[in-house]
Amino acid sequence: ADQTYDVVIIGAGGAGFSAALEAKQAGASVVLLEKMPSVGGNTLISGGEMNAANTWVQKNLGIEDSTELFIEDTLKGGDNIGDPEMVRVLAENATAAAEWLKDEVKVNFLEDHLFQFGGHSVKRALIPEGHTGAELITKLKKQLDEMGIDLKTNTKAEKLLTDDSGKVIGVEAAGANGGTITFHANKGVIIASGGFGSNVEMRKQYNPEYDEKYMTTDAPGTTGDGIVMAQAVGAALTNMESIQTYPVCNPKTGVISLVADSRFDGAILVNQSGQRFVEELERRDVISKAILAQEGGYAYQLWNQEIGDIGKTVDTHKDEYEMLVKDGLLYKADTLKEAAEFFKIDPEALQATIDRVNKFAKSGKDEDFNHRAGLKDMSKGPYYIQKAVPSVHHTMGGLVINKTTQVLNEQGQPIAGLFAAGEVTGVIHGKNRLGGNAIADAITFGRIAGQQAAK
Ligand code: ADP
Repeated sequence: ADQTYDVVIIGAGGAGFSAALEAKQAGASVVLLEKMPSVGGNTLISGGEMNAANTWVQKNLGIEDSTELFIEDTLKGGDNIGDPEMVRVLAENATAAAEWLKDEVKVNFLEDHLFQFGGHSVKRALIPEGHTGAELITKLKKQLDEMGIDLKTNTKAEKLLTDDSGKVIGVEAAGANGGTITFHANKGVIIASGGFGSNVEMRKQYNPEYDEKYMTTDAPGTTGDGIVMAQAVGAALTNMESIQTYPVCNPKTGVISLVADSRFDGAILVNQSGQRFVEELERRDVISKAILAQEGGYAYQLWNQEIGDIGKTVDTHKDEYEMLVKDGLLYKADTLKEAAEFFKIDPEALQATIDRVNKFAKSGKDEDFNHRAGLKDMSKGPYYIQKAVPSVHHTMGGLVINKTTQVLNEQGQPIAGLFAAGEVTGVIHGKNRLGGNAIADAITFGRIAGQQAAK
């Protein structure tokens, strides 16, 4: 079967949806292909936080920020491997992208709260209602439906079609009923298929460290298809060895823990011996490696009610909390002794650790690990203790794109008709993506891709 559109988009996550809405807005006919039965990808299952500088919420809170500072933080956070010009495009357009989500897509962001993820100099991560990407994807999908854009789920893009000049002119896909469908693209194809965190073989191909010993937080559809398809038409890849783990995940499933966001409000990490071993607000890669170096390759996150009351992660992520408790991975205890005994930690050792934490909370200086936000007093219960492991979370590498999101070949020339945005691209995050920058990347460049492909 053959179908023809102006713009064909592969992957219905944050980048694909944003591209679809913009391309349609620009007057193009658009089809959005999604291989899974349901939409959303990693965007859906993420916390959904999005960084931008000088937003309305920063103004509400009186926080000073600048595009330059956002660029600096992002580059530095990635060990200065990211492309400075592309990071500038991100930082200069993220604020408008966030306003577009709020005003056009009707995404509800909290008006009086921002996250400051590791590596950012100020609080700049907008938080969607419910603290997950569900708010983003629900509203993007609603808008897509209202605009009458065709969405094909269970439709897996398998091959990019080119003409004699090498221009990309369509996509061959496996349709819902097993047959092959050819989607012809009059104007352009946009790859927005996400990363390859769920593809263990591909992880090993580019970095043997990230083998089966790691589970993943990622959506099952993030298997690197777009990277492989683009490579087949001559696209260059970059930064493929840079794979990020998230430090605090479910030891049974690999799924990211959002209950454990209490870490950003002062929760500490201890090992089986009840001792701290890393600064809890260090970079994700540093904390992950430190956890794997502990006995058993896991850690416990510990916080008390006072810390929990700040971000209310237990209430906000009630389903996750209840599942962790049921699986014996999280325990609420009245006393520290009880918390220690649940996981067979020496209660006296844990008490000694907390005594030091309380001392440093009082003095304002963490003499052991120099906690950058300052430790909090944990003398009062009840306590929450949660077992955690690192899990593969984001693949920083991927396709090389230019400022207009054209995909480049090995010679640095644009491949005609081919655009890409989101986690499938590899030029922004360098060695280490900062929290809140994936959504900013996907939405900002997804919009640009949609506008450009529709030209
Ligand atoms: P981003 O944040 O870059 O938008 P996501 O992970 O949120 O990335 O979304 C990528 C989406 O692309 C996922 O829903 C995934 O299932 C989908 N996808 C991946 N490969 C294909 C493919 N070959 N054909 C269609 N959809 C795909």
